Amino acid sequence: MLPYGRQSVSEEDIEAVTAVLRGDWLTTGPTVTAFEEALSDLVGGHRAISCTSGTAALHIAYAAAGVGAGDEVVTTPMTFVATASSASLLGAKVVFADVEEDTALIDPAAVDALVTDRTKVVAAVDYAGHPADYAALQPIADRVGALTLADAAHSIGGLSGGRPVGDLADLTTLSFFPTKNLTTAEGGAVVAKDPAVAQRAHEFHFVGLMRDPDRFRIEDEGPWHQEVHEFGLNYRLTDLQCAFGLSQLKRLAGFKQRRTEITARYDAALAGVDGLRLPARRDGVDPAWHLYPVRILEDRRREVFEKMRASGIGVQVNYIPVYWHPVYADLGYRRGMCPNAEAFYAEELSLPLFPDLTDDQVDQVVETLIGIL
Ligand SMILES: *Cc1c(COP(=O)(O)O)cnc(C)c1O
Repeated sequence: MLPYGRQSVSEEDIEAVTAVLRGDWLTTGPTVTAFEEALSDLVGGHRAISCTSGTAALHIAYAAAGVGAGDEVVTTPMTFVATASSASLLGAKVVFADVEEDTALIDPAAVDALVTDRTKVVAAVDYAGHPADYAALQPIADRVGALTLADAAHSIGGLSGGRPVGDLADLTTLSFFPTKNLTTAEGGAVVAKDPAVAQRAHEFHFVGLMRDPDRFRIEDEGPWHQEVHEFGLNYRLTDLQCAFGLSQLKRLAGFKQRRTEITARYDAALAGVDGLRLPARRDGVDPAWHLYPVRILEDRRREVFEKMRASGIGVQVNYIPVYWHPVYADLGYRRGMCPNAEAFYAEELSLPLFPDLTDDQVDQVVETLIGIL
């Protein structure tokens, strides 16, 4: 079965990881620092904190933003559940804003209608690798004293208005799961523009431990002294994984290039095919395509999904609207709340897209899809 996404691992990646195994530091060592510095360079110079997954990154980011019981987080339902559930876990009320009909990105007008003085974070998702409209979202968040968060699990390496992903929102979260644009097996990172928020993120991912003498609240007991002022978890990424990530980062531009070529090949081959709608794209945006989400019209998505799978092509559906999950239904969220997201979900089909996919394989996907339609 041709997968819809998969990692690309080179001999250099393998050597980078094995070199760490022969060294002194398996975790919390110099390779973690080197990876975080390289990430920081990529995202506009803001501090980056590596962590164990994209889900952990979201949990850390919401905690660093001060999200807690009584707060509201406005987000999109067209995402992986973690974008919302990590805020729910902190006690926040999640408010779902509908998406734009064509891009499936959170609609700033819908956000504008839903923010209140209890809104702590407006969390957008760069669905498929296409950055959301942060230029429109930021003033809405600013007006109510909230932070913007970019769930950039799909979009590392992308640009909007010439600025890199990581420089578009107050907080950005990344995922390095194998299907994503670069991988550390499991892994993620948080980027924060405000150094104080970044420090809170760092401490939350480090069990809440703090070693800054200027902030100590009890007498410094000696060189070993450290304090916990707020609860945290151990979400640290290892040196092994950071070596993998550093090596992958060197290949990111090539990955993006190849994903762009494949996307263009799909665009050209599928243009004008009846019963199909191709992904939308805004001016001024240079996406880092993670998914190639087509829309299968005339109520045929399930049929096409099953026939593609039966033909050995591992298509995927991204995503079931988050509030359809029983955990949200149990909290009283009802279907029909975000009609654009639900209509998009009903038609969406993600075609295979990953850097090692060959042109011949792309052509095979295209032929199979056109044949079925
Ligand atoms: C993958 C993903 C996550 C979670 O990342 P993990 O590394 O799998 O925990 C969060 N949000 C989006 C949009 C994702 O695609």
